[in-house]
Amino acid sequence: MPERHIVVVGGGISGLSAAYHLTKQAKRESISLRVTLVERENLWGGKIRTVREDGFVVEGGPDTFVTVKPWALELCRELGLWERLLPTNPHARRVFILWRGKLHLLPHGFLTFSPDLKGLFETDLLSWKGKLRVALGILLPKPNWDEDVSVSAFLGYYLGTEMTERVIAPLMAGVYGGDIRQLSARMTLPTLWQIAKLHRNLAWASLVRSLRRKLQRQSSNSQPSSYFMTLKSGLGELVETILASFSEVNLVQGREAFQLRRDSESGRLIVTLDDGSQLAADAVILATPAWSAANLLKPLDANLTDELFSIPHTHAITVSLSFDRSQVSHPLNGSGFLVAPEDQRESLLLACTWTSSKFPPRAPQGKVLLRAFVNKWVEMDDSELVNAIVEALRPLLGIKGEPERSWVFRWENAMPQYTVGHAKKVVRINERLKGLHKVFLAGNYLTGIGIPDCIRSGREAAEKAIRAILRGNSS
Ligand SMILES: Cc1cc2nc3c(=O)[nH]c(=O)nc-3n(C[C@H](O)[C@H](O)[C@H](O)COP(=O)(O)OP(=O)(O)OC[C@H]3O[C@@H](n4cnc5c(N)ncnc54)[C@H](O)[C@@H]3O)c2cc1C
Repeated sequence: MPERHIVVVGGGISGLSAAYHLTKQAKRESISLRVTLVERENLWGGKIRTVREDGFVVEGGPDTFVTVKPWALELCRELGLWERLLPTNPHARRVFILWRGKLHLLPHGFLTFSPDLKGLFETDLLSWKGKLRVALGILLPKPNWDEDVSVSAFLGYYLGTEMTERVIAPLMAGVYGGDIRQLSARMTLPTLWQIAKLHRNLAWASLVRSLRRKLQRQSSNSQPSSYFMTLKSGLGELVETILASFSEVNLVQGREAFQLRRDSESGRLIVTLDDGSQLAADAVILATPAWSAANLLKPLDANLTDELFSIPHTHAITVSLSFDRSQVSHPLNGSGFLVAPEDQRESLLLACTWTSSKFPPRAPQGKVLLRAFVNKWVEMDDSELVNAIVEALRPLLGIKGEPERSWVFRWENAMPQYTVGHAKKVVRINERLKGLHKVFLAGNYLTGIGIPDCIRSGREAAEKAIRAILRGNSS
């Protein structure tokens, strides 16, 4: 078989995973394959942005990944990063909710949607009426969940308004940066949605889910005990290690792919870069954000472009701050807090991670590292924004003086919103892709927004691309 060429556009974790799995599979199956990875920025990793500075490890984008989805852990194991994994500090797993100006402890199990009754009755986040509503609601018979509904309709039915607005809304905003009145229950809570459809009420469904999780943990000895993991030098270590494994990938950095078309004579795909150079490929994987893939696909399929453009995105800003420990009077005895929607109206805060408590090696001894998520896209310059965030945190954490250092990261159109009906949209996108022959999509806007799902989507796109070129070869 003559040498084949696959171009991957986008050097975030989805594209890196695609390129990694392409080369791995080609080597394993002795396929003669050249891989080119094109990235617009002068940095690899996309949203993964780790800054290391005088003993601080600051994450501008993601700071952890979940371990219940295996794909990030699997990749770490393959890359020899197992010993580099860093679990969350077991003494700082408590999470707080900022509600009506005060930090309230989120009861045990609420973070993973498996609350226990003791925690429910002890919490001061809900009134007695609200608690009773949850206790009775989880026994309500399941309605007909045939069509997708919003998270607020789905969980509101079982848990009532108080629990949904004070607990579920900030938890979901912490992951998706979105509004539970619009987010799809089917796509953002897939396991709960499936079991709620099967079982007679939510109490029974939750019991089945927690038993299933326990069994999974028992059957997998190598499964780490922490629900969240990161790497000792930050998630940038994952990006650096993948890149170091690329002995044969042709890396093109600082070049934007701006057109994708098919050559009518050869049938090959032509990727045009912003310097006018062209890459002829047997298959192309677009591992960019949805709106960028939409632009590239315009000459090939205008309907697919429309579908991709119709996926809404929200922006994200993170502000990391360091203080001397003596400047912060709060014990910081947890991993941070999320802000209830009611309190977001008067504040810029969406959430705040107590990074140096959650992952102690992230800051030098005697220093505190905090990371705030901003709840709107503000036009302030960095120093104004830092001041506003410090003033919002000051009364909550007992902060004296000014931060010693600060880091601001702005991510425009960064968080795809899986709104009600998203699953059907993904089906339509996949149908249209079939008609394109040898063009594949990977990324966070299809079936999972987190790092593990992005790694999986890159791997799946790589497998499909190799199958397609092998099929093309035999025909
Ligand atoms: C602030 C923040 C915090 C987050 N926290 C977490 C977390 O803790 N845990 C978690 O699991 N997930 C988290 N996420 C989500 C997760 O980080 C992202 O979903 C994931 O990193 C996206 O990876 P990706 O490769 O699909 O896309 P991206 O990282 O966006 O990469 C796409 C790449 O494509 C490049 N590109 C785009 N267009 C072109 C073009 N035309 N030509 C060439 N290159 C192009 C871009 O420059 C970019 O580098 C967070 C996201 C944000 C923004």
